[in-house]
Amino acid sequence: MTNQLTFASSVADGIYCIDTGFGRENFDASYLIVSDTQAAFVDVGTNYSAPRLMKTLEELSLTPTQVNYVILTHVHLDHAGGAGEMMRLCPNAQLIVHPRGARHMIDPTALRAGAVGVYGEEAVEEEYGQLLPIDAKRVTEAGEGFEITLGQRQLICMDTPGHAKHHIAIWDPVSQGVFTGDTFGLSYREFDTDQGAFIMPTTTPIQFDPAALRESVERISALNPECIYPTHFSRVNDVPRLKDIFLKQLDQMVEMAVSFKDSSDRYVKIKSGLADIYEYHLKTNGCNISRKELEEFLAIDLDLNTQGIEVWLDKA
Ligand SMILES: [Zn+2]
Repeated sequence: MTNQLTFASSVADGIYCIDTGFGRENFDASYLIVSDTQAAFVDVGTNYSAPRLMKTLEELSLTPTQVNYVILTHVHLDHAGGAGEMMRLCPNAQLIVHPRGARHMIDPTALRAGAVGVYGEEAVEEEYGQLLPIDAKRVTEAGEGFEITLGQRQLICMDTPGHAKHHIAIWDPVSQGVFTGDTFGLSYREFDTDQGAFIMPTTTPIQFDPAALRESVERISALNPECIYPTHFSRVNDVPRLKDIFLKQLDQMVEMAVSFKDSSDRYVKIKSGLADIYEYHLKTNGCNISRKELEEFLAIDLDLNTQGIEVWLDKA
Protein backbone atom coordinates (compact mmCIF):
# COMPACT_ATOMS: atom_id res chain seq x y z
CA MET A 1 0.00 0.00 0.00
CA THR A 2 2.63 2.53 1.06
CA ASN A 3 4.67 2.28 -2.13
CA GLN A 4 1.74 3.66 -4.13
CA LEU A 5 1.54 7.02 -2.38
CA THR A 6 1.62 9.86 -4.89
CA PHE A 7 2.79 12.71 -2.67
CA ALA A 8 3.90 10.97 0.52
CA SER A 9 6.38 8.51 1.92
CA SER A 10 6.38 6.41 5.07
CA VAL A 11 8.96 7.75 7.54
CA ALA A 12 8.13 5.63 10.62
CA ASP A 13 5.51 3.10 11.63
CA GLY A 14 2.20 4.95 11.12
CA ILE A 15 3.85 8.23 10.13
CA TYR A 16 3.85 9.66 6.61
CA CYS A 17 5.63 12.71 5.26
CA ILE A 18 3.50 14.46 2.63
CA ASP A 19 5.14 16.96 0.28
CA THR A 20 2.71 19.89 0.38
CA GLY A 21 4.07 21.26 -2.92
CA PHE A 22 4.61 24.71 -1.39
CA GLY A 23 7.72 26.51 -2.68
CA ARG A 24 9.40 23.62 -4.45
CA GLU A 25 9.44 19.86 -4.18
CA ASN A 26 10.94 18.49 -0.94
CA PHE A 27 10.63 21.83 0.85
CA ASP A 28 7.45 21.89 2.94
CA ALA A 29 6.01 18.87 4.75
CA SER A 30 2.75 17.88 6.34
CA TYR A 31 3.01 14.80 8.53
CA LEU A 32 0.15 12.34 8.79
CA ILE A 33 0.07 10.19 11.93
CA VAL A 34 -2.19 7.13 11.92
CA SER A 35 -3.08 4.99 14.92
CA ASP A 36 -5.90 2.43 14.91
CA THR A 37 -8.70 4.09 12.96
CA GLN A 38 -7.65 7.64 13.85
CA ALA A 39 -5.48 10.14 12.02
CA ALA A 40 -3.86 13.50 12.70
CA PHE A 41 -2.02 15.97 10.53
CA VAL A 42 0.95 17.89 11.90
CA ASP A 43 1.20 21.13 9.85
CA VAL A 44 -0.80 21.34 6.66
CA GLY A 45 0.98 23.65 4.19
CA THR A 46 -1.28 26.13 2.43
CA ASN A 47 -4.78 26.01 0.94
CA TYR A 48 -3.21 24.71 -2.25
CA SER A 49 -1.76 21.72 -0.36
CA ALA A 50 -5.16 20.36 0.68
CA PRO A 51 -5.67 18.18 -2.45
CA ARG A 52 -2.35 16.42 -1.76
CA LEU A 53 -3.28 15.80 1.88
CA MET A 54 -6.71 14.49 0.93
CA LYS A 55 -5.22 12.28 -1.79
CA THR A 56 -2.86 10.74 0.76
CA LEU A 57 -5.76 9.94 3.10
CA GLU A 58 -7.59 8.27 0.24
CA GLU A 59 -4.55 6.23 -0.76
CA LEU A 60 -4.24 4.99 2.83
CA SER A 61 -7.94 4.02 2.79
CA LEU A 62 -8.76 6.67 5.39
CA THR A 63 -11.78 8.97 5.20
CA PRO A 64 -11.72 12.67 6.14
CA THR A 65 -14.04 11.83 9.07
CA GLN A 66 -11.24 9.74 10.60
CA VAL A 67 -9.04 12.80 11.01
CA ASN A 68 -9.34 13.69 14.69
CA TYR A 69 -6.75 16.43 14.82
CA VAL A 70 -5.05 19.10 12.79
CA ILE A 71 -2.00 19.97 14.88
CA LEU A 72 -0.03 23.13 14.05
CA THR A 73 3.55 23.56 15.21
CA HIS A 74 3.06 27.32 14.73
CA VAL A 75 0.93 29.69 12.69
CA HIS A 76 3.36 30.79 9.96
CA LEU A 77 1.54 30.39 6.66
CA ASP A 78 3.69 27.62 5.17
CA HIS A 79 2.54 25.48 8.15
CA ALA A 80 -0.91 26.85 8.96
CA GLY A 81 -2.13 28.61 5.82
CA GLY A 82 -4.29 25.62 4.88
CA ALA A 83 -5.63 24.95 8.38
CA GLY A 84 -9.07 26.49 7.78
CA GLU A 85 -9.50 24.55 4.56
CA MET A 86 -8.41 21.26 6.17
CA MET A 87 -10.79 21.84 9.10
CA ARG A 88 -13.59 22.37 6.57
CA LEU A 89 -12.68 19.14 4.74
CA CYS A 90 -12.26 17.09 7.95
CA PRO A 91 -15.52 17.69 9.87
CA ASN A 92 -14.53 15.78 13.04
CA ALA A 93 -11.13 17.35 13.48
CA GLN A 94 -10.11 19.52 16.40
CA LEU A 95 -7.38 22.10 15.81
CA ILE A 96 -4.45 21.93 18.23
CA VAL A 97 -2.41 25.12 18.40
CA HIS A 98 -0.23 27.11 20.79
CA PRO A 99 -2.27 29.50 22.99
CA ARG A 100 -0.60 32.46 21.27
CA GLY A 101 -1.63 31.18 17.83
CA ALA A 102 -5.27 30.24 18.55
CA ARG A 103 -6.85 33.65 17.96
CA HIS A 104 -5.09 33.94 14.59
CA MET A 105 -6.74 30.73 13.45
CA ILE A 106 -10.19 31.79 14.69
CA ASP A 107 -9.82 35.14 12.92
CA PRO A 108 -6.99 35.00 10.37
CA THR A 109 -7.40 38.64 9.26
CA ALA A 110 -4.34 39.95 11.12
CA LEU A 111 -2.21 36.97 10.10
CA ARG A 112 -2.94 37.51 6.41
CA ALA A 113 -2.55 41.28 6.69
CA GLY A 114 0.89 40.70 8.24
CA ALA A 115 1.91 38.59 5.25
CA VAL A 116 0.51 41.18 2.83
CA GLY A 117 2.61 43.81 4.62
CA VAL A 118 5.77 41.82 3.89
CA TYR A 119 5.06 40.27 0.48
CA GLY A 120 2.22 42.31 -1.05
CA GLU A 121 -1.37 41.28 -1.82
CA GLU A 122 -0.67 39.74 -5.20
CA ALA A 123 2.04 37.39 -3.92
CA VAL A 124 0.02 36.41 -0.85
CA GLU A 125 -3.03 35.61 -2.97
CA GLU A 126 -0.92 33.55 -5.34
CA GLU A 127 0.97 31.61 -2.64
CA TYR A 128 -1.66 31.30 0.10
CA GLY A 129 -5.08 32.43 -1.17
CA GLN A 130 -7.76 33.42 1.35
CA LEU A 131 -7.49 32.02 4.87
CA LEU A 132 -10.68 30.41 6.20
CA PRO A 133 -11.57 31.23 9.81
CA ILE A 134 -12.02 28.28 12.20
CA ASP A 135 -14.92 28.00 14.64
CA ALA A 136 -13.55 28.77 18.14
CA LYS A 137 -15.30 25.63 19.47
CA ARG A 138 -13.03 23.53 17.27
CA VAL A 139 -9.81 25.15 18.50
CA THR A 140 -7.89 23.68 21.43
CA GLU A 141 -4.99 25.59 22.95
CA ALA A 142 -1.98 23.39 23.64
CA GLY A 143 0.88 24.56 25.79
CA GLU A 144 3.70 22.80 27.63
CA GLY A 145 2.76 19.24 28.63
CA PHE A 146 -0.55 19.13 26.74
CA GLU A 147 -1.33 15.52 25.78
CA ILE A 148 -3.15 14.37 22.65
CA THR A 149 -4.63 10.87 22.52
CA LEU A 150 -4.67 9.45 19.02
CA GLY A 151 -5.73 5.80 18.92
CA GLN A 152 -2.98 3.93 20.77
CA ARG A 153 -0.63 6.88 20.66
CA GLN A 154 -0.14 9.58 23.24
CA LEU A 155 1.47 12.72 21.79
CA ILE A 156 2.98 15.28 24.14
CA CYS A 157 3.30 18.98 23.33
CA MET A 158 6.26 21.11 24.37
CA ASP A 159 6.35 24.89 24.37
CA THR A 160 9.35 25.65 22.14
CA PRO A 161 9.86 29.39 21.53
CA GLY A 162 12.86 30.83 19.67
CA HIS A 163 11.72 30.67 16.04
CA ALA A 164 8.27 31.96 17.02
CA LYS A 165 6.59 32.56 20.37
CA HIS A 166 3.57 30.58 19.14
CA HIS A 167 5.56 27.40 18.54
CA ILE A 168 5.05 23.93 19.94
CA ALA A 169 6.97 20.73 19.25
CA ILE A 170 5.24 17.36 19.54
CA TRP A 171 6.93 14.33 21.11
CA ASP A 172 5.83 10.91 19.88
CA PRO A 173 7.10 8.26 22.32
CA VAL A 174 6.09 5.42 19.95
CA SER A 175 8.51 6.41 17.18
CA GLN A 176 10.79 8.22 19.65
CA GLY A 177 10.59 11.23 17.36
CA VAL A 178 9.79 14.90 17.76
CA PHE A 179 7.80 17.01 15.29
CA THR A 180 9.92 20.13 15.50
CA GLY A 181 8.26 22.50 13.02
CA ASP A 182 10.90 25.18 12.45
CA THR A 183 12.39 25.23 15.98
CA PHE A 184 15.17 22.71 15.21
CA GLY A 185 15.85 24.40 11.88
CA LEU A 186 15.74 23.40 8.25
CA SER A 187 17.21 20.21 6.85
CA TYR A 188 17.21 20.14 3.08
CA ARG A 189 17.75 16.73 1.52
CA GLU A 190 19.82 18.34 -1.25
CA PHE A 191 22.62 18.84 1.33
CA ASP A 192 22.80 15.20 2.46
CA THR A 193 26.27 13.68 2.27
CA ASP A 194 27.80 10.41 3.42
CA GLN A 195 28.34 12.14 6.78
CA GLY A 196 24.58 12.46 7.07
CA ALA A 197 22.08 15.30 7.04
CA PHE A 198 22.79 19.01 7.38
CA ILE A 199 20.61 21.36 9.45
CA MET A 200 20.50 25.14 9.77
CA PRO A 201 18.65 27.52 12.10
CA THR A 202 15.85 29.60 10.62
CA THR A 203 15.45 33.14 11.90
CA THR A 204 12.51 34.38 9.81
CA PRO A 205 10.80 37.55 11.08
CA ILE A 206 9.59 38.63 13.54
CA GLN A 207 10.13 36.66 16.77
CA PHE A 208 13.62 35.20 16.45
CA ASP A 209 15.06 34.87 19.96
CA PRO A 210 18.42 33.09 20.03
CA ALA A 211 18.50 32.40 23.78
CA ALA A 212 15.02 30.87 23.71
CA LEU A 213 15.88 28.94 20.55
CA ARG A 214 18.98 27.42 22.15
CA GLU A 215 16.98 26.35 25.19
CA SER A 216 14.22 24.82 23.04
CA VAL A 217 16.73 22.82 21.00
CA GLU A 218 18.48 21.67 24.20
CA ARG A 219 15.14 20.55 25.65
CA ILE A 220 14.20 18.59 22.52
CA SER A 221 17.63 16.95 22.47
CA ALA A 222 17.34 16.07 26.16
CA LEU A 223 14.56 13.62 25.24
CA ASN A 224 17.25 11.60 23.42
CA PRO A 225 15.00 11.20 20.38
CA GLU A 226 15.76 8.65 17.67
CA CYS A 227 14.83 11.26 15.10
CA ILE A 228 13.20 14.60 14.50
CA TYR A 229 10.58 15.47 11.90
CA PRO A 230 11.27 19.07 10.82
CA THR A 231 8.67 20.59 8.50
CA HIS A 232 11.47 21.48 6.06
CA PHE A 233 11.98 18.64 5.19
CA SER A 234 11.24 15.12 6.40
CA ARG A 235 12.70 12.80 9.00
CA VAL A 236 16.34 13.06 10.08
CA ASN A 237 18.27 10.89 12.53
CA ASP A 238 21.46 11.37 14.57
CA VAL A 239 20.00 14.23 16.60
CA PRO A 240 23.09 14.87 18.81
CA ARG A 241 25.17 15.57 15.69
CA LEU A 242 22.48 17.85 14.24
CA LYS A 243 22.15 19.69 17.54
CA ASP A 244 25.87 20.34 17.53
CA ILE A 245 25.81 21.73 13.96
CA PHE A 246 22.73 23.81 14.79
CA LEU A 247 24.05 25.40 17.98
CA LYS A 248 27.47 26.19 16.51
CA GLN A 249 25.79 28.06 13.67
CA LEU A 250 23.40 29.82 16.02
CA ASP A 251 26.29 31.15 18.14
CA GLN A 252 28.21 32.27 15.06
CA MET A 253 25.12 33.96 13.62
CA VAL A 254 24.56 35.95 16.80
CA GLU A 255 28.20 36.97 17.07
CA MET A 256 28.30 38.01 13.40
CA ALA A 257 25.00 39.91 13.60
CA VAL A 258 25.98 41.83 16.73
CA SER A 259 29.26 42.87 15.09
CA PHE A 260 27.29 44.50 12.25
CA LYS A 261 24.55 46.00 14.44
CA ASP A 262 25.41 49.62 13.70
CA SER A 263 27.15 49.29 10.33
CA SER A 264 25.96 50.94 7.19
CA ASP A 265 24.81 48.39 4.64
CA ARG A 266 23.86 46.14 7.54
CA TYR A 267 21.48 43.95 5.50
CA VAL A 268 24.12 43.17 2.87
CA LYS A 269 26.79 42.43 5.48
CA ILE A 270 24.60 40.14 7.55
CA LYS A 271 23.36 38.29 4.48
CA SER A 272 26.90 37.70 3.32
CA GLY A 273 27.92 36.71 6.88
CA LEU A 274 25.14 34.14 6.94
CA ALA A 275 26.28 32.70 3.60
CA ASP A 276 29.83 32.44 5.05
CA ILE A 277 28.52 30.47 8.02
CA TYR A 278 26.41 28.11 5.90
CA GLU A 279 29.26 27.60 3.46
CA TYR A 280 31.70 26.73 6.22
CA HIS A 281 29.39 24.22 7.88
CA LEU A 282 28.21 22.69 4.61
CA LYS A 283 31.83 22.12 3.56
CA THR A 284 32.66 20.71 7.01
CA ASN A 285 29.76 18.33 6.49
CA GLY A 286 31.25 17.16 3.18
CA CYS A 287 28.99 19.13 0.83
CA ASN A 288 30.87 20.58 -2.15
CA ILE A 289 28.36 23.23 -3.19
CA SER A 290 29.92 26.37 -4.70
CA ARG A 291 29.26 29.79 -3.17
CA LYS A 292 27.21 30.80 -6.22
CA GLU A 293 25.06 27.66 -6.05
CA LEU A 294 24.60 28.13 -2.32
CA GLU A 295 23.45 31.73 -2.75
CA GLU A 296 21.02 30.69 -5.46
CA PHE A 297 19.61 27.67 -3.67
CA LEU A 298 19.27 29.50 -0.35
CA ALA A 299 18.22 32.86 -1.81
CA ILE A 300 14.89 32.98 0.02
CA ASP A 301 16.37 31.66 3.29
CA LEU A 302 19.22 34.17 3.16
CA ASP A 303 16.78 37.03 2.65
CA LEU A 304 14.27 35.98 5.33
CA ASN A 305 16.92 35.00 7.87
CA THR A 306 18.68 38.34 7.40
CA GLN A 307 15.40 40.21 7.87
CA GLY A 308 14.64 38.21 11.02
CA ILE A 309 18.07 38.89 12.50
CA GLU A 310 17.67 42.62 11.79
CA VAL A 311 14.31 42.67 13.60
CA TRP A 312 15.98 40.96 16.56
CA LEU A 313 18.93 43.41 16.53
CA ASP A 314 16.54 46.36 16.57
CA LYS A 315 14.69 44.93 19.57
CA ALA A 316 17.80 43.94 21.53
ZN1 LIG B 1 8.37 27.04 7.96
